[in-house]
Amino acid sequence: MKNSSVLIIYTGGTIGMVSDPLSGILKPFNFKNLSKEIPELKKFKIKLDSFSFAKPIDSSNMNPSIWSDLVKIVEKNYDKYDGFVILHGSDTMAYTASALSFMLENLNKPVILTGSQLPIGTIRTDGKENIITAIEIAAAKQNGKPVVPEVAIYFEYALYRGNRTKKVNAEHFQAFASPNYPKLAEAGVHLKFNHEYIRKPNNKKLNVHYQTNSNIAVLKMFPGITENYVRSVLNAHHTKAIILETFGSGNAPTEKWLLNLFKKAIHEGKIIVNVTQCIAGSVEQGKYQTSTELKKLGIIGGNDITFEAAITKLMHLLVFQLSYTQLKKKFVTSISGEITKS
Ligand code: ASP
Repeated sequence: MKNSSVLIIYTGGTIGMVSDPLSGILKPFNFKNLSKEIPELKKFKIKLDSFSFAKPIDSSNMNPSIWSDLVKIVEKNYDKYDGFVILHGSDTMAYTASALSFMLENLNKPVILTGSQLPIGTIRTDGKENIITAIEIAAAKQNGKPVVPEVAIYFEYALYRGNRTKKVNAEHFQAFASPNYPKLAEAGVHLKFNHEYIRKPNNKKLNVHYQTNSNIAVLKMFPGITENYVRSVLNAHHTKAIILETFGSGNAPTEKWLLNLFKKAIHEGKIIVNVTQCIAGSVEQGKYQTSTELKKLGIIGGNDITFEAAITKLMHLLVFQLSYTQLKKKFVTSISGEITKS
């Protein structure tokens, strides 16, 4: 860890809040004073620099243009630092982590996102531990090589592959889970890395993708879903791809009108991806009769991908104007560890 350098990028979120001494209202604190809030940082033998967005945001306002800004910051500073810590609100952190994992092709350095449930300026904050350990992880090296050369989320003593995470709790400090992929590390008395699950560096040159395409609709199945509703979602103007959120292992009602609408959408060149509503487990089209027809229509089975990774992967892939077959092949193949080969 000695002689390591880490750039901390503050985008916003609860973590950067302190209470105003007069009014008691929570307000963003000046990131130049990071070590005033966390004096422990001075004890690190790591060179730390910080960069704060001019207007920090609640992560509910996160969007692809800010992802583009973020990847540009990483790109610009890539050779200067050993790792990056992005402080981010927890609400959309799983989306940002997933998006960055696709936009930063050939990433060979750690990009660790973290945040907190309680502001850094409150006594019981979880933010201090989260920042301190995220920095340690971003700086960690073994034989001169970064230990975690990928986009990851550190939260409440656990490190997760970013594009495998979901925010699962709005109350508990343990806000994230990675139901379909093991933790990359656990922080107890020791920081224990699970090396076998961490991506290996490919030593290729970083290739940054700035563009995304958000012309995607989401259709969540529910008992009683109506033909009119499905038609309006599938026909929405400019829609290029649809994520079907299905039951269990990828099942949907077998009603003729529904299958006909899917068929029509595919015929019109729209991409349809099948992702499960379940928190854990995989889509297996063809396992039940209720998904066999979806498979026959050419709907793409999302296997064990999260909704967050599926939507950001589509945003990324749609930019390349691929044919249905090419896009299908890319979607079911892992780009940065987001999907297991079926
Ligand atoms: N609403 C906040 C945000 O996502 C919650 C948090 O910071 O964790 O920005």
